[in-house]
Amino acid sequence: MSVKYIPEPFRIKMVEPIKMLTREEREQKIKEAKYNTFNLKGEDVYIDLLTDSGTNAMSDIQWAGVMRGDEAYAGGRSYYNLVEACQDIFGYEFIQPVHQGRAAEKVLFGLLLEEGQYGISNMFFDTTRAHVELTGARALDCVVEEAKDPSHRAPFKGNMDVKKLEELINEHGKEKIGVVVMTITNNSAGGQPVSMQNMKDTAEVCKKYGITLVIDAARFAENAFFIKQREEEYKNKSVKEITKEMFSYADVFTMSAKKDAIVNMGGLLAIKDDAELYQLAKGRTISFEGFTTYGGLSGRDLEALAIGLYEGLDENYLEYRNGQMEYLAARLDDAGIAYQSPVGGHGVFVDAKALLPHIPSNEFPGQALAIELYKEAGIRTCEIGSYMLGNDPDTGEQLQADFEFTRLAIARRVYTQSHFDVMADALIAIKERADEINGYRITWEPPVLRHFQASLEPIK
Ligand SMILES: *Cc1c(COP(=O)(O)O)cnc(C)c1O
Repeated sequence: MSVKYIPEPFRIKMVEPIKMLTREEREQKIKEAKYNTFNLKGEDVYIDLLTDSGTNAMSDIQWAGVMRGDEAYAGGRSYYNLVEACQDIFGYEFIQPVHQGRAAEKVLFGLLLEEGQYGISNMFFDTTRAHVELTGARALDCVVEEAKDPSHRAPFKGNMDVKKLEELINEHGKEKIGVVVMTITNNSAGGQPVSMQNMKDTAEVCKKYGITLVIDAARFAENAFFIKQREEEYKNKSVKEITKEMFSYADVFTMSAKKDAIVNMGGLLAIKDDAELYQLAKGRTISFEGFTTYGGLSGRDLEALAIGLYEGLDENYLEYRNGQMEYLAARLDDAGIAYQSPVGGHGVFVDAKALLPHIPSNEFPGQALAIELYKEAGIRTCEIGSYMLGNDPDTGEQLQADFEFTRLAIARRVYTQSHFDVMADALIAIKERADEINGYRITWEPPVLRHFQASLEPIK
C-alpha cells in the first residue's frame, strides 16, 4: 500500500472507554433495533461512524474556553470574541450565532424566498431543502454530471453546473429565483469539494441576474484544503486566505458549526454587508432562537466555537484529517472495494451496489452492508440510497436512488489508526462472504424521513 497514515498532530489526555460486545451480543442488539442503526444505543457501538456532525473531540483550549464562557444574557464577552473571530476569518460584517445549521436556514430563507419561487443549489442538504420548501418555494439541484459516477475520479465533483444554472434562471425568470446556495463541501455528493473557479463563475451569474448567493458552509475548511491541494493557483496560499477569498464571492452564509468548527453544538448566520437584511434576521432570531448576542447557545458554547473556527483551519490538522480518509480509501483500493472516488472530506461512501451485486435496490444493499458492519465489528454507519430516498409520494412505489452507499462518516480528532484498520478489515471480511449476505424488507415505516425510524427484517 502506498498511502501512509499521517500521525495525529495532538496527544490524548482524556479517554472515553468504549464497550466491547461479542458478535452474538451484537446480533441480538441489531435484531432488537429492528435492523435500523439509528435505533441502536450509542453504548452498544464500538466505532460510531453514523455522522461527523457534533461528534467532534474538543481541544484542551476549547475546554478552557468553556470555563471562561460569559453567560450574560445580553452583550457577553464570548459573543464579541465569536464576532471578532468570524470577521477575521470570513470578512463579513454581521454575525449572528444560532443553535445549529438548520436554525440559520429557518431564520434566513423566510426572508429571501416565497411561494412560487425557486432556490437553486449545487446540491441541497436535506434540512436546507426542507427550509426552502417550508417557505412554499421549490428546491432545484444543479450539480455537475460527473458527481453522479462513483468510479469517475475528478478533482471537484461538488461543483455547480454553471451552464445549467443560467439555463434554469432563464427558464423560470430571474425574479422567480430567490436564492442560489453553494454547499461546501457538497455533502450529498459525498463530501466532494467546489473549486474557487466554480465559486467565481457562480457568483458572476448571480451578479448578472441580481440573485443573492448563499454559502452553506458546514465544511468550509475541508473545502479550502482541497482547493489548496488541487487548484494550481492556490498551492502557495494559506487555507485561511483561501477561505476569505471563497467567502468574498457570496453575500450570506449559513453554517452548521457541528462539522468543521469542531464543536458539539452551534451554528452561524453571517451577512456580508446588507444592514437591512441583518436587521430583519435579528428580529427573526429573537423570535426563534433567543436574543441576538447568544442565539440559542450558552456563552460557553460561543467561546468554544470562536476557538474551534481557528482550530478547524489549522493545516497540520487538515492534513492529518484528510490523510485518514486517504488511508482508508487506499486500503479499500487494495482490496478492490469501490467507493465514491476520489474520497470526500468527511467520510468514505462505500458503493454497496458493487459490493453486494446480488441484492436489488428495493432490498437495500446499503442498509444490508450497514447491518453487516455492525455485526462484524460493532461499527455503526448509515445507508445513503434507496432506503433513505423512500417512496414516490404520488404512487407509493419505492423509488430507485442513483447510488446505493453505506457512509462511514469520520468524527474529528476521535479515532486512531488502529480504528481505521478495524474499519478496513471489517469491510474486507464482509467482501469475502458477500454472497451469503441477504437483503432486507421494511415491516413498518413513517410517512416522511423514514430511515430514522423504520423497522426492517432480513429476507431469508
Ligand atoms: C449538517 C448540515 C446542515 C444542517 O446543520 P445542523 O447543524 O445539523 O442543523 C446544513 N447543511 C449541511 C451541508 C450540513 O452538512
